Amino acid sequence: MGWIDKEENVDLSRLCTIKIGGKAKSVYLPETVDDIKNLISESREREKPFVPLGTGSNIVFSDGVLDYIFVSTKKLKKYRLEEKDGYIYIHAQAGVSFKTIVSLVKKYNLEGFEYLSGIPATIGGAVVMNAGAFGSQISDIIRQVEWIDGEGRLHQLKREEIDFGYRKSPFQGGGFVYSAVIRLKKSRKDIPQIIKSHLEERNKKQPLDKPTSGSTFKNPPEKPAGYLLEKAGLKGYRIGNVAFSEKHANFMVNLGGGRFKELKELIELAERRVGELYQIKLEKEIKVVE
Ligand SMILES: Cc1cc2nc3c(=O)[nH]c(=O)nc-3n(C[C@H](O)[C@H](O)[C@H](O)COP(=O)(O)OP(=O)(O)OC[C@H]3O[C@@H](n4cnc5c(N)ncnc54)[C@H](O)[C@@H]3O)c2cc1C
Repeated sequence: MGWIDKEENVDLSRLCTIKIGGKAKSVYLPETVDDIKNLISESREREKPFVPLGTGSNIVFSDGVLDYIFVSTKKLKKYRLEEKDGYIYIHAQAGVSFKTIVSLVKKYNLEGFEYLSGIPATIGGAVVMNAGAFGSQISDIIRQVEWIDGEGRLHQLKREEIDFGYRKSPFQGGGFVYSAVIRLKKSRKDIPQIIKSHLEERNKKQPLDKPTSGSTFKNPPEKPAGYLLEKAGLKGYRIGNVAFSEKHANFMVNLGGGRFKELKELIELAERRVGELYQIKLEKEIKVVE
């Protein structure tokens, strides 16, 4: 493998928003498609899991030392804007944050992204998760995705070729989302004001004052996961230093010094209780790396 910048012995709690986890033996910081292809073949040859990392806002790590191929997108933050056919296209590498997109959207008063503002994602993580809020999701504005598959082949996929679903994309099966193109348009509405009210709405509903990993479970078709957890008596329920938030039952929070073991027990308890009470099998939204 050629030279790729890497950090060693990294605290995994620094790589996820719930701030729980042991150590990563190495975290690679690729800068090019070839770097990523090399890391994919490294993971295949050495039979080690290949784990891309965005903001870590929907991922949790176990304790102990994980000797995996962790791939940070910190050095993949380039973007450019293109104006064509009355639209503004943002071409962004995987590591570009939603914060950056929101600042562009506000600066040029662009429409189409306002409902996604406040999600603490990177472009890569959001495409993989098909992140969304208030009835919109990133797949509504995606035009193209560059994806390197699990065998190291680069694909340029048009929106029509990608089978997105609710918090679901074909990219969850492996490989690496390298970049995406989103399409927005200049608006006559006051976009910064709309964003401001969305952020206030989020602040009211989500425990943004504590380390959290966002929604733990997907909403089953029957009822929202938060409602089911609350009915099952789990809103505010705590095991050690990890709890389902008092503010939003589907958000786990780290109350300080939380451990993976506590988090895992909490998830298992929720699955069991909701299963027994409602015969509903909760499906995890968060990605557990252990
Ligand atoms: C406070 C808070 C609020 C949230 N609100 C929302 C919300 O309103 N709506 C919503 O949908 N989600 C929400 N989330 C969850 C989370 O922000 C989204 O799922 C987001 O898309 C994850 O992006 P990320 O960059 O943090 O990805 P990560 O959490 O780092 O990774 C998520 C998964 O994607 C993989 N991945 C990351 N980057 C790549 C890449 N480039 N290529 C391939 N795989 C990759 C990871 O390996 C992992 O499996 C919230 C989370 C928090 C903490």
